Amino acid sequence: MKYIDVHCHLQFPEYDADREEVIARAQREEIGIINVGTDIPMSVKAIEIAENHKDIYATAAIHPNHTKEKFDLSALAELAKHPKVVAIGECGLDYFRSLPEDFERQEEVFIQHIELANKVNKPLMLHIRNAKSNDGGDNLNAYKDALKILKEYSKVRANFHFFTGTQENLDEIIGMNGMVSFNGVVTFARSYDAVLKSAPIDRIMSETDAPYLAPIPNRGKRNEPLFIKDISHTIASIRGEMVDKILPQLVDNARKMFAI
Ligand SMILES: [Zn+2]
Repeated sequence: MKYIDVHCHLQFPEYDADREEVIARAQREEIGIINVGTDIPMSVKAIEIAENHKDIYATAAIHPNHTKEKFDLSALAELAKHPKVVAIGECGLDYFRSLPEDFERQEEVFIQHIELANKVNKPLMLHIRNAKSNDGGDNLNAYKDALKILKEYSKVRANFHFFTGTQENLDEIIGMNGMVSFNGVVTFARSYDAVLKSAPIDRIMSETDAPYLAPIPNRGKRNEPLFIKDISHTIASIRGEMVDKILPQLVDNARKMFAI
């Protein structure tokens, strides 16, 4: 493994026409992949892909934006035990694409996921989105709420996927032995440079979030794990570190975090 994409969704219908080609392109470049589940069917499909490929793993969970739908917690618990499931997620709180009346249900389902992660002793893959900006009101700060919930319930490590929090949030995450991952947005937005630079080298990971958010030079197109190369190289240049140093470190960080 030369590169690692810790968060993408190759099980999504966007890849139905050419999934094996997308995987082959990534495998030729020795890119490890974690396909992240967003509901039960999408977790099952992520596991199926992982079962059939080397260096491809899966996660299982109900995405916070799907918490209004009914789901079978015992079915999720069964998936969580699968050897190729390396994390419970993506779960968490999304105050951006939901209404305040949904927050309570999101919190309840988030806690169920944390308890499941504790039980199977696997890390959490978190999706946390504030309502507006990072300094949104007290009741709308998903990072603040998520950190509080984690402190109370979690016994495992957590990765904050597509980290969009503040320096203060980052410090708190580092203090609880957490990780943050960065995607293609770092190639075209400068608002994450400061936190990306200040994060300790052993606490960052690389992700595409494919099919979404393709990095430059493919911005606006369908994303795929191959583009983790552009993201990893951008992470090195923003941090002012040698590519030869950062690439093995990104792989090593993910190996430790997900026991892969
Ligand atoms: Zn995702």
